[in-house]
Amino acid sequence: MSYLKITQDEPAAATDGVWLTCIECGETFAPFEGIRYTCDDCGGLLEVRYADLPTFENFGDEGTAFHGGVWRYSAALPFNTGVTLPEGNTPLHEVPRLEDKIGVERLRVKHEGMNPTGSFKDRGMTVGVRVAQEVGVDRLACASTGNTSAALSAYGSRAGLQVLVLLPEGKVAAGKIAQASLHGARILEVDGNFDRCLDIVQNLADRGEAYLLNSLNPFRLEGQKTIGLEIMEQFDAEEGGFPDRIVLPVGNAGNTAALYKAFRELEASGAIDEDEIPKLTGVQAEGSAPMVEAIEEGWDHIERWDDVETKATAIRIGNPVNAPKALPGIRETDGTAVAVSDAEITDAQRTLAEEGIGVEPASAASIAGLRKLRDRGVVDEDERVVCLTTGHLLKDPDAAVEAGTEPEPVPADTDAVLEHLQS
Ligand SMILES: *Cc1c(COP(=O)(O)O)cnc(C)c1O
Ligand SMILES: [Zn+2]
Repeated sequence: MSYLKITQDEPAAATDGVWLTCIECGETFAPFEGIRYTCDDCGGLLEVRYADLPTFENFGDEGTAFHGGVWRYSAALPFNTGVTLPEGNTPLHEVPRLEDKIGVERLRVKHEGMNPTGSFKDRGMTVGVRVAQEVGVDRLACASTGNTSAALSAYGSRAGLQVLVLLPEGKVAAGKIAQASLHGARILEVDGNFDRCLDIVQNLADRGEAYLLNSLNPFRLEGQKTIGLEIMEQFDAEEGGFPDRIVLPVGNAGNTAALYKAFRELEASGAIDEDEIPKLTGVQAEGSAPMVEAIEEGWDHIERWDDVETKATAIRIGNPVNAPKALPGIRETDGTAVAVSDAEITDAQRTLAEEGIGVEPASAASIAGLRKLRDRGVVDEDERVVCLTTGHLLKDPDAAVEAGTEPEPVPADTDAVLEHLQS
């Protein structure tokens, strides 16, 4: 049983050509009967599998809605539509000055902060909440560094379901708490870090208290696959061909796993060749870098970091639950992983802002990581690169104010203002 091989005979457990496969032992399960997040037999991560794999010709708006976005890719998803706000269809910005500064052939920025609640988590939630409706649950829950809770609160409310979120006390950016709060979630502030919050919410889910919508839930990753599908289509339409490399911030490594799955499915269907798969390149903060450690050490697993710290709170995670899916993704695509300092993150946040792109600190890690890898010669000058920016500037207003210019108090008088400007 090879995790990398995406095709297999349709098992008896399948419903309408959809099933779950354990990536460790290969056991298969019915997708919507009973609730499970990991393998009953061995505890391994589950992956959603399909009898029919998508090609680019399968994607389109017919029969779904009159907008692009996640459900445009329903041929690669378990349903035709879901609880939508709508999400996806985010811009792939040109950044000519930044491209020059970093020194690559082409650089594009995929700004996932432009989703309805301001992060890519919306792509996973539109699918995840649809599945929650299918299996029939009343209460949804997640542990979160902030953005998952904002997305779950919005999508859960829209579906008319209760939402419970567990947050690490004092470590969630203001904008994200404001969202969970106004969308009416029950917010528990846990005296512990994100990884402890996830341990607890997994226990609650195992006891049947709530349906878990962290990225351990394999259906979230199905929605997030559409980031990869969109990048391939947009880049091909605007630049011709596919990017050589995709650089992204890594927290729980859900996105890394999701992008890899999107590319494996496209390859298995014959839509792309193996050598057209972009090199997946993960970036973590120095104070929170278990994936980078595993890649550098050549391990096939990560070692949990109990103490993590970074101002990029969205990636302040010491136990990336999707590592068993993401580590092969980085290795098999010939990618790599790199750690950056908080100072490098802030610098990259400012540089992006100069191009008019406002992002939260974790998002800027992708640019900081690319710059570092280019300086080290790991990334070549002839590469065409897409950096993923995962969340919007307004998510973390405190970090933005700290990184940006200082407001200057002046009297309410034109002459005094002129004098101030001249001083
Ligand atoms: C969730 C999140 C991440 C981390 O994504 P993973 O899929 O968990 O690796 C990075 N940046 C932002 C802004 C996020 O909200
Ligand atoms: Zn198993």
